[in-house]
Amino acid sequence: MSQERVIVVGGGVVGASSAWWLDRSGFDVVVLERRDSFGSVTTPNALGTIRTQYGTRVLIDLAQESLSFYRNVTEHLGIEPWALGWANHGYLYLSDNEEHTSRLQASLAEYQSMGVTSSSFVGESEIRDRFPFAGSAVAGIFHGDGSWVDPRRITQAWVDASPAVDWRTGVEVTAISSTSSGAWELETSQGALTADRVVICSGPYAPAMLQQFGVTVPVKITPRYKLFVPDMDEVHAAAPLVININNGAYWRPVDGGVWLSHSNVDGRSLEPADTVAVPDGFLDDCADQIEPVSPALAAAARARRDDVTYAGGFQVYPADDAPIVGEVPGAAGLYMNTGHWAGVMLSPACGRLLADCVAGTVDDGANPCRIGRFADGSAERHGTNKFGGWG
Ligand SMILES: Cc1cc2nc3c(=O)[nH]c(=O)nc-3n(C[C@H](O)[C@H](O)[C@H](O)COP(=O)(O)OP(=O)(O)OC[C@H]3O[C@@H](n4cnc5c(N)ncnc54)[C@H](O)[C@@H]3O)c2cc1C
Repeated sequence: MSQERVIVVGGGVVGASSAWWLDRSGFDVVVLERRDSFGSVTTPNALGTIRTQYGTRVLIDLAQESLSFYRNVTEHLGIEPWALGWANHGYLYLSDNEEHTSRLQASLAEYQSMGVTSSSFVGESEIRDRFPFAGSAVAGIFHGDGSWVDPRRITQAWVDASPAVDWRTGVEVTAISSTSSGAWELETSQGALTADRVVICSGPYAPAMLQQFGVTVPVKITPRYKLFVPDMDEVHAAAPLVININNGAYWRPVDGGVWLSHSNVDGRSLEPADTVAVPDGFLDDCADQIEPVSPALAAAARARRDDVTYAGGFQVYPADDAPIVGEVPGAAGLYMNTGHWAGVMLSPACGRLLADCVAGTVDDGANPCRIGRFADGSAERHGTNKFGGWG
């Protein structure tokens, strides 16, 4: 078993899963997190949702592997699913426009041909019977794999399940450089450290860190927001995640209320920060957009605006929507696990892939998430281009 030391920079959900997998692969692992707790920057702002319905091979494979991990989480992490806030209520993609029926059925056939077998068409009468909150929706897809976990709890579960890892908070990495012996030196707020390998998992801060090694990571760093409406009724508490495919507005049950958001971001790429101000009017935007497929929720959000709470963070979107995992070109022993706009969902598979890259059990050429795919033209088409950004 190798005793090489690997330092992971960043203790969000992606750094935490990477550390767990590296530990299992036999490395001596240290995690450095500059804040005073793990999973406290982007990760806690996520809705924690999980699906396998995508339009590209790489995302489907990563999502199916991750879903399988979550379904067997007790065996892997020694924690009961309920303790993670796990639920498998499905995803419900809805439209109030009958003309979308043929588009939904064509997409469904494509998903099924790619091995996404848990999705099925739902017509107007089935919607009325099964989903009484669904307003004037007349057509949709029900995706049975759709699930969720609590983002903070899964991060803590990775930490708790790997006691051999040296988990450190309050340590900021300020510089990373290679030494003449092929090792790596890290300047930190708590002094210098050396390692055989380094893994950059610093979320929205990773692209700037990698830039110093001459690597431009092709991503947009995009603000996203959610709001919490407390005390929704039992119908909403038992619901799947619901998406209005005409505009990307969506919600899911949580803690007796719902999280509500929309994915029609403005496409700007911004400088990252630990906190993101939620724009004025976000509640009304969300309520307007969700109203056709969930009118009672829209009314409740507007009526209870004084009780609504908000959160925001940065999602990191690669040009083809697939994460970027592997060795940094031209920097032997330096790795990245970045490009995550769905890092809660994909952290099991991406942590495994990262550990395989560090252990040398996967060749760069066989790694679908290598950064080189952008230069060699093998990146797949945009993976989330259907249904208001939910492909
Ligand atoms: C509104 C919203 C909804 C979302 N919904 C979902 C969803 O439903 N499902 C899903 O899967 N994903 C969702 N996401 C995306 C998800 O939150 C991210 O993909 C995921 O949290 C990224 O994790 P991370 O570990 O890469 O980044 P982070 O959680 O940001 O962690 C990076 C860590 O690195 C640390 N760090 C940075 N620089 C340094 C340094 N120099 N030294 C030491 N430490 C450093 C930071 O302090 C931070 O803790 C959502 C995001 C938002 C904003």
